Amino acid sequence: MRRAVFLDRDNTINADPGYLSDPAAVRLLPGALAGLRRMQAGGLPLILISNQAGVGRGYFDQATMWAVHGQLVQLLEAGGVQLAGAYYCPHTPWDECPCRKPAPGMLFQAAREHEIDLKVSFMIGDKPSDVEAGRRAGCRTVLIGAASLPPRSPFVDTVCPDLTAAAAWILGTVEV
Ligand SMILES: [Mg+2]
Ligand SMILES: [Zn+2]
Repeated sequence: MRRAVFLDRDNTINADPGYLSDPAAVRLLPGALAGLRRMQAGGLPLILISNQAGVGRGYFDQATMWAVHGQLVQLLEAGGVQLAGAYYCPHTPWDECPCRKPAPGMLFQAAREHEIDLKVSFMIGDKPSDVEAGRRAGCRTVLIGAASLPPRSPFVDTVCPDLTAAAAWILGTVEV
């Protein structure tokens, strides 16, 4: 069993115009590539965990969602970063599925499929639902940006401005 870093997608790795559905509009955030490279070099598999309720709401279909994913993968690979896995929840809040964050279902599935020990792993995201999902799965959590949470949220272990800072914090907490 090994440790991993689970990552939200929108406004964590790439900029989010809201229900991102145009592959040509995918833009990596400042600090994203450098941070991801650093975690990867530290031996940490990177696994994407993303809610895409735009599918369930009918704003775009799953093929479009995967086209956006493909473009993200291309940009990451051009920067030397490989994702070890990617999990998407296409449902809406009213579907009450077990996978939509803040539910931890996608992290549990990823842990089973990639033989990850959640208790020594990390979840990074920009929303309360990201860090809540990570904590409910037993991970340590990093909130990107500081806008959306009260400072003493029980679900947040640290707040970082970007993925480069998150990588420094995570690698500083583990022996790699
Ligand atoms: Mg996000
Ligand atoms: Zn779901």
